[in-house]
Amino acid sequence: MNLQSDLQPPKFSFRQMKKHRILIVEDEKPIRDMVYFALDSDGYEILEAVDGREATEKLAQDLPSLILMDWMLPDISGLELVRRIKRDEITSHIPIIMLTAKTEERDKIEGLDSGADDYITKPFSVRELSARIRAMMRRIDGDENDNKLTYGKLVLDLDAHHVIIDDTQIEVGPTEFRLLEFFMTHPDKVYSRAQLLDFVWGRSKFVEERTVDVHILRLRKLLKPYNCHQMVQTVRGYGYRFIDEK
Ligand code: CA
Repeated sequence: MNLQSDLQPPKFSFRQMKKHRILIVEDEKPIRDMVYFALDSDGYEILEAVDGREATEKLAQDLPSLILMDWMLPDISGLELVRRIKRDEITSHIPIIMLTAKTEERDKIEGLDSGADDYITKPFSVRELSARIRAMMRRIDGDENDNKLTYGKLVLDLDAHHVIIDDTQIEVGPTEFRLLEFFMTHPDKVYSRAQLLDFVWGRSKFVEERTVDVHILRLRKLLKPYNCHQMVQTVRGYGYRFIDEK
């Protein structure tokens, strides 16, 4: 045994291995550079794409933890790209923050309707951007170490496919699981039945809107013994919203 080799520093530090990857899709270089500078110093790994085509290529290679999406891209509207990403089963869970110069309320709503999780209005400060990203990362994984989603007192084990509430393990059906995963990554916003069908079931499948209600009911039943059923709210005339009532 060669003692000398034991003294070599490890090739990768633990910190590096845990790095979150962020994809920025933006055609304006000054903004990409500013984002790169800000996020690199925050310890994130940054992938860059200048248009929709390059973004699609990058997504096919590596899945980022989060996407920053410009609204106006040279080859495709950022909104359309968001819709595509959110429709694709493989990428639909990735949170997207829209970068937009449009400040009208109507545009913001359109952005969120398309499936974007948040938006930030240009011009924005490095501090503002960092804060938004940190908030989003906290929301998607309370702990970088394991593959779990946490929201309120709910913990979703993405590997074992069960829910944990107050240290109790709860088995849920595959659809309820996906529904809960969607809700926990998209809290506080109202989604119509049609949108839930798109995001949770996928647009390619023909499913009646009533099916959403059936699975929402099942989900509430599962959560009721733990007093968490009220997290799934009905918004009359529109759809459902997931909130942490505290
Ligand atoms: Ca642009």
